[in-house]
Amino acid sequence: MPRFRNRYPAADHGGGNALKWMFEFAFEKWQPVEFPLAQNRPAWLAANRSEPSLTWIGHASFLLQLDGLNVLTDPVFGARASPFTFAGPRRLTPVGLAINQLPPIDLVLISHNHYDHLDDASVRRLAQDHPQAQFVVPLGLKVWFAERGITRVVELEWWQSATLGAARVTSVPVQHFSGRSLRDRNATQWCGLVLELGGRRVLFAGDTGYSKDFADIGARFAPFDLALLPIGAYDPRWFMAAVHVNPEEAVQIHLDIDSRLSVAMHWGTFRLTSEPLDEPPQRLAAALRAAGVSEQSFVVYQHGETRVLNFAADQPAQKKATA
Ligand code: ZN
Ligand code: ZN
Repeated sequence: MPRFRNRYPAADHGGGNALKWMFEFAFEKWQPVEFPLAQNRPAWLAANRSEPSLTWIGHASFLLQLDGLNVLTDPVFGARASPFTFAGPRRLTPVGLAINQLPPIDLVLISHNHYDHLDDASVRRLAQDHPQAQFVVPLGLKVWFAERGITRVVELEWWQSATLGAARVTSVPVQHFSGRSLRDRNATQWCGLVLELGGRRVLFAGDTGYSKDFADIGARFAPFDLALLPIGAYDPRWFMAAVHVNPEEAVQIHLDIDSRLSVAMHWGTFRLTSEPLDEPPQRLAAALRAAGVSEQSFVVYQHGETRVLNFAADQPAQKKATA
């Protein structure tokens, strides 16, 4: 079984540290927080073929409408991010858009196989209800889909691209890990995904710690018209820094890749780590001020919120003249 590795060294995120953290986390006190759910407009989404739009379904799940295509990222609609229906992180904010309210899906981008990003029931249901949907997955994960009878799957190694109709999707390296059980750690790859469609360039960063990978992604693809960047699941830093960025690092990624518009994800949906559930957006606002970055260029959506992307007002981000 191949064992995948990060490209840049990171602190140890396994073994004894994992046990130590799990023990601490289990006994932590925490305050439940309720987040408002935006009113969504499934009928508008279903009819829309012309306006670029983005809907935050929750956590790392977005519906992106671009150039007439409907694209989903890491679709997780279940009540838990867990292999079990009775245990594991519970969804604390309802899904922003129900799975049966989705418009016809063309493309599904999967970043890695952790339960908060790859949900068995959601994927089966999508494949059933949207037989035309094409899945793009990291190296080693195609077999997981084949076991479920899902064959419209393209598996990509880092920096490898696939052309799917009008869309071009490239897998890019990020700093993380994978696994769905105690025995398959790093047996499949993890990645970010770059979508090029209709003259626009979008980064879905997946799940990641901060690393030089983003300077590398920037060198190849910057600038980006849109980036979906994680801002949550970062405490305690001694254990989480290797695998999840904090808001300050997310701002650095926004700068590294020269993103014109970034949208926050991976917060406020499941309690996976120790920081208060509502802390990431507050820290993001402070980090943007500290870095002198406009709050309009790195925004936080409400769960379920749809925004029309104001691409039409400007020119597509021009690719840098690099080799
Ligand atoms: Zn993960
Ligand atoms: Zn995650």
